[in-house]
Amino acid sequence: MNKWSRMEQDLELLKQQHLYRSMKVIDSPQNSHIRYEGRDLIMLASNAYLDLCNEERVKKAAAEALADYGTGSGGSRLTTGTTQLHMELEETLARLKGREAALVFNTGFAANSGILPAICREGDVIFSDELNHASIIDGCRQSKGRTIVYRHNDMEDLERKVRAEAPYLKAAGAQGLIVSDGVFSMDGDIVNLPELVRIADTYSLLSMIDEAHATGVIGATGRGCEEYYHMEGSVDICMGTLSKAFGAEGGFVCGSRILIEYLKNKTRSFIFSTSLAPVTMAAAKRAAELLMEEPQRVERLQDNVRWFCRCLKENGLPFTSETAIIPIRIGDEEQAMEVSRRLLDRGYFISAIRYPTIKKGEAMLRAALMSSHTREELAGAARAIAEVIRETAG
Ligand SMILES: *Cc1c(COP(=O)(O)O)cnc(C)c1O
Repeated sequence: MNKWSRMEQDLELLKQQHLYRSMKVIDSPQNSHIRYEGRDLIMLASNAYLDLCNEERVKKAAAEALADYGTGSGGSRLTTGTTQLHMELEETLARLKGREAALVFNTGFAANSGILPAICREGDVIFSDELNHASIIDGCRQSKGRTIVYRHNDMEDLERKVRAEAPYLKAAGAQGLIVSDGVFSMDGDIVNLPELVRIADTYSLLSMIDEAHATGVIGATGRGCEEYYHMEGSVDICMGTLSKAFGAEGGFVCGSRILIEYLKNKTRSFIFSTSLAPVTMAAAKRAAELLMEEPQRVERLQDNVRWFCRCLKENGLPFTSETAIIPIRIGDEEQAMEVSRRLLDRGYFISAIRYPTIKKGEAMLRAALMSSHTREELAGAARAIAEVIRETAG
């Protein structure tokens, strides 16, 4: 035994279980076609849903910011790291979500893992969906409050659990908070927001939605869950990312002025971390503007989702989704990995998702669509997926 043997054994175990992870190195911008190991592949795994990672006007805004501000920000937001571009981006995001104010974090992960412990103190209770993103789970763990996990998107289970805690919360003068992904990051399903908000309002709890995969994707103009359900302004804490549909990086929160001032003063991941570069702020701001100016990008994406689900169904794979994430269930980890490998050989870059991201034995392909995919590409992909699943079955 030496000091590395435990790590070696753990890695060996992961390999045996087909759970060992490695990176694929990409040699191009994040487009619907990418360059990988010298080949052109169709990208069906990216969160860059609206094709804004390599958009000319976004790149121009970033290039101008680079010329004007250089690269780094030199400090945290509360020291040297706030430029005019940071402020403009926050104003734009607040406008996009119809809120008084917004606050940008370095990543979506830093937002969730920082906000929950900042808001929920000892004695408080967080009600969290069992399939919430890892960053929410970490935020719950870091909070000194208690976390009560409810069954996935099961509003009866949520209300039962809230009702059981309500007398205690009231007696203790404690705060309760319900948190859920808006669009769940692996299955692509949408939170039952009307019920969640009704429960939050009935029991005086804060409501928080993570719109990482909802912003730019659902709702008639891509503003997310509230627009999808026609209930604008009803969620207390609207969290999102700049790293997905916006094609940049960073996380954000929109809400009341009080909420934002509180988070500025209390969130450790905001206070003790060097702020994002001005270049990134400029890119994200231009991307957010394009989302507002060009809703047809969102329409194209939503049209692609309907078309792709139809193609899957025609090929015997009846998996549906209303978001850009389409889960194609396989089950066995080894088969899922083999399917993904063979699709790569056929020119499709599509991720297999498995434990510990999702439950053991429920491995799947997670198809992620972009607004620039063509109908022919998607029809071809659906055919190839069905064929490869048949080839590898049994
Ligand atoms: C990706 C993701 C995050 C984290 O955002 P990053 O900007 O990538 O750190 C948070 N929540 C959900 C639901 C996500 O899918």
